[in-house]
Amino acid sequence: MNENLKQQFMNKILEKIKTCMECSLCEGRCKPVLGEGNLNSELVFIGEAPGRKEDEVGRPFVGSAGQLLDRLLFGIGLSRKAVYISNVVKCRPPDNRRPTIEEMEACTPFLEEQLEIIKPKIIVAMGNSAISFFSKKFGFKVIGMWRIHGKIFQVEAPWGKVILFATFHPAAALYNKDLEKILEDDFKKLSTLLKS
Ligand code: SF4
Repeated sequence: MNENLKQQFMNKILEKIKTCMECSLCEGRCKPVLGEGNLNSELVFIGEAPGRKEDEVGRPFVGSAGQLLDRLLFGIGLSRKAVYISNVVKCRPPDNRRPTIEEMEACTPFLEEQLEIIKPKIIVAMGNSAISFFSKKFGFKVIGMWRIHGKIFQVEAPWGKVILFATFHPAAALYNKDLEKILEDDFKKLSTLLKS
């Protein structure tokens, strides 16, 4: 599928989420956030949900967590234009709370559609919501991010073999230098994986 066609499919998903009322998160949203980046990228990053800034502008990872993500990408020679970035849910949960299981179940068909369009070879699940969605989808058990970060899971997606890479959500490291260092180390492992 060429990039123009992929973009057309993404635009159709965007139109659907703009009017979606499948869960109560629609009540407080300003702008839903679909995702952005390179639709031909083999590498996709999935976070949790839009925050305040993302909800204002309708783009993913534009606040402080986004700046940290940019730095982490830069540290391994990538930019956000080279990869695709999205979230498990598309509307902002009130007070930036974690999305509930019901909200994730209501929203993740959109993420599944996006992934079917991009067909990535590597998916980076950032944070507990993302890894919990993917572990359920691909049928493996996770035992907490501290035990699995920096590890890879080989899974079979509808479009072929995919490597799932688990790490912390950048927002968790904003006020925690130790966690930021762990994220940097995880991104170095990701870089090695990309080169292999
Ligand atoms: S979070 Fe997802 S399912 Fe819920 S209203 Fe927004 S787009 Fe629809």
